[in-house]
Amino acid sequence: MTVDQIEEVLPGIYRIPVPLKGNPLKELNSYLIRGDKNLLVDTGFRTEDCRQALLEGLSLLGIRMEDTDILLTHLHADHSGNAPDIVYNGNKIYMGRLDKKYTVGMGTQEENGIVLLHMSRVERLKKNGISEELIKEMLKCTPSRTMAPNPDYVDYTALDEGDEIQAGSYTLRAIETPGHTPGQMCFEIVGTGAMILGDHVLFDITPNITDWPGVEDSLGNYLASLDKIDKYDVTIPLPGHRKPADFHQRIADLKAHHERRLAECRAVIKRLGKAHLYDITGNMTWKIRAASWDDFPPAQRWFALGECLSHIDHLKRTGQIIQHDEGDIYWYEA
Ligand SMILES: [Zn+2]
Repeated sequence: MTVDQIEEVLPGIYRIPVPLKGNPLKELNSYLIRGDKNLLVDTGFRTEDCRQALLEGLSLLGIRMEDTDILLTHLHADHSGNAPDIVYNGNKIYMGRLDKKYTVGMGTQEENGIVLLHMSRVERLKKNGISEELIKEMLKCTPSRTMAPNPDYVDYTALDEGDEIQAGSYTLRAIETPGHTPGQMCFEIVGTGAMILGDHVLFDITPNITDWPGVEDSLGNYLASLDKIDKYDVTIPLPGHRKPADFHQRIADLKAHHERRLAECRAVIKRLGKAHLYDITGNMTWKIRAASWDDFPPAQRWFALGECLSHIDHLKRTGQIIQHDEGDIYWYEA
C-alpha cells in the first residue's frame, strides 16, 4: 500500500483499497473518518493479506486502532472478517441489528461441518429436488469459514433505522436497506451529499441477491430498498467495491436488470411447464464460461441456485407463479 492509493473522498474521509486476492470483486473499499475517535468502515476478509493492507493504509494515515471504532455495513466476510481481530478492547464494532443476529447466531457457527447459515438453504434445496450428492459437492466449495470474523466475538453494537454515529465533524445516520443481506445498512453522511452504500448499490458489478433463512422475499426487499435510497439526494456515493458513478442512474439500471431477470425466470417456468428449481436455474442465462449448466463449477452452481431461488420467491409472493408440492418435492407453474 502506498499513500497515493488512498483517496480523500471528503475532507478527513479516506478510501483505503483492501485487495481481495483471487476474488472477482478485486478489492474492498474501507473508509476511514478521522476524529478524536476515528471510525473505520468495513475491514476485509480475515486473512493475513487483507489485515496487512488495511493496517498499512491506516498507519500511512497516522491512525491508531486504540482510537478507532469500527462500523460494518453488513455481515459478509469481505466486509466484517478482520473487525474482531483489530478492534481494541473497549472500542465498538457497530452493525445492523439483523445482521448481528445472523452473525452471532449462525453466520460462523457450524454443525456437522455445515455453517448454520447454510442449513436452511440445504433444506430448501432438498425440498426442491436437488440431490444430496450435489449439495455435498457444493458445500465443500462455499466460501471458507476461516475468512469470516472470529466466531467468539459477540459484542457487536446493534444499529437500527435512524441511529446516528458522530465521527470527526460528521454525523452518520443509519438507513436499513435489507436485500443483499437481511440487515445491510447504508449511512447518510448528513449534510454532505455522501452516502456509504456497502454492497447495496455497486456500479460496475451487480450486487448478489440470494435467498436467506427467515426472509420471505429477499429480492422484493432489495427492490424496495433501492426505491428507499433513491429518494436521497446523493452526489458522493461511496460503494463497498470498485469506483462510483451516477447514483440515480445506477439504481434505475439495477431495477431494470432485476425486472428482466424476473421476466426471464417466469418465461423459463412457463416454457418448462412443470418446472423444478434445477432446470429453471439451468435454463436461465449466466455470465459463466462453462459448456453447459451441468458443467458449472460447484461454487457457481450454489450461487446460481440461490439467486434463482430469490427470483422464484419474488414471483411467488407477487402471485406470478404457483408452487406445487408433489411427493414432497416442489415444482413451479407460471
Ligand atoms: Zn456483500
